[in-house]
Amino acid sequence: MLSASRFDTFSSPLLANSCQKLRLDSTLEDLQLWDCQVESHYLGKEIAEKFNQNPLLPGVIMTEAGKFIGMISRHRFLENLSRPYGVDLFLPRPLKFLYRFAHSQELIFPSKKLIVEAAHQSLHRPPELLYEPIVVEVAPQVQRLLGLHELLIAQSQIHQLATQLLEQTRQKLETANEQLKRQVSIDGLTGIANRRRFDEYLEIEWRRLGRENLVLSLILCDVDFFKSYNDTYGHQAGDMCLRSCASLLSNSVHRPADLVARYGGEEFAIILPNTDSAGGVYVAEAIRAGLHSLKLPHIRSECGFVSLSYGVACMIPSHDTEPADLIALADQALYEAKAKGRNCVVLKTQF
Ligand code: GH3
Ligand code: MG
Ligand code: MG
Repeated sequence: MLSASRFDTFSSPLLANSCQKLRLDSTLEDLQLWDCQVESHYLGKEIAEKFNQNPLLPGVIMTEAGKFIGMISRHRFLENLSRPYGVDLFLPRPLKFLYRFAHSQELIFPSKKLIVEAAHQSLHRPPELLYEPIVVEVAPQVQRLLGLHELLIAQSQIHQLATQLLEQTRQKLETANEQLKRQVSIDGLTGIANRRRFDEYLEIEWRRLGRENLVLSLILCDVDFFKSYNDTYGHQAGDMCLRSCASLLSNSVHRPADLVARYGGEEFAIILPNTDSAGGVYVAEAIRAGLHSLKLPHIRSECGFVSLSYGVACMIPSHDTEPADLIALADQALYEAKAKGRNCVVLKTQF
């Protein structure tokens, strides 16, 4: 007789949800395995009955005095029964008799084997053995059975999981990359474009406007008496002041191609593509008026409030000039604005 508990306490791997908790490194022991060891003296008809009762049972493991002898798959068992006289020959006789005919070379894996590896090796068997169940050794002399179908379902779930993880990783990488790109071009204190981005953008626009023979304006502006501001109000207040200026500048330009950048310590730069000198001066004056209306106190400044000096330069890019020429021109204009008494706009053009 078969031990009732061995067959009756099994749970079908196909019906169990255990596969949903699989990880990339899940092993065969994470799967539900068939506990179906039978002694070799059991009769063929007893085994046939068990196959009938458990339609998903992929085979049985045959033992002698508890020692592993081999595995007989459902497929081979039924194949032998369907031979001429198979039923008369095999059903009344002990299983070991049928085993001589039904035996095939088993694939035996330790239960710690990765599902992915087990599936790979199982699929590389010769075609006649391809659908044979796999013997899993869960402990010395303790074997369980795993149908190829269940193994492939687990493998496909792991594959799905790997695809999901890959997609998640790709998305995270993309976000990190975008963040990194932003970080390398943004000034940490003020949140506007940094000097690196300014240089890069000026170069691009210089070439573009040169090709199209269009004008480019640049405003360089510098906080007046900023050293005294820091000395009076402290460096943290100084930083806050720079943030307020950056925010005002950003809100004062409206065209998509305009770029506001922090050029240096308390100096800002504004690139105004396709904007002539009148336009450049207009933007600078608008910023000056805006800052004046903010009335940020600066007791050691001549006007009593935070102010900027503005150098506006305007050029049409050409082959014999370069972006540095435009910067130098704006710098000269800014120097003149400082010399004129600060809090004013000076224009320099070169055509
Ligand atoms: P001017 O009106 O001629 O421009 O005089 P200034 O005092 O503004 O110019 P100066 O070049 O003498 O001093 C600039 C000061 O700007 C020096 C430094 O303390 C301050 N500064 C530069 N970068 C930062 C910054 O990131 N944060 C703060 N708080 N201060 C800065
Ligand atoms: Mg300065
Ligand atoms: Mg200054």
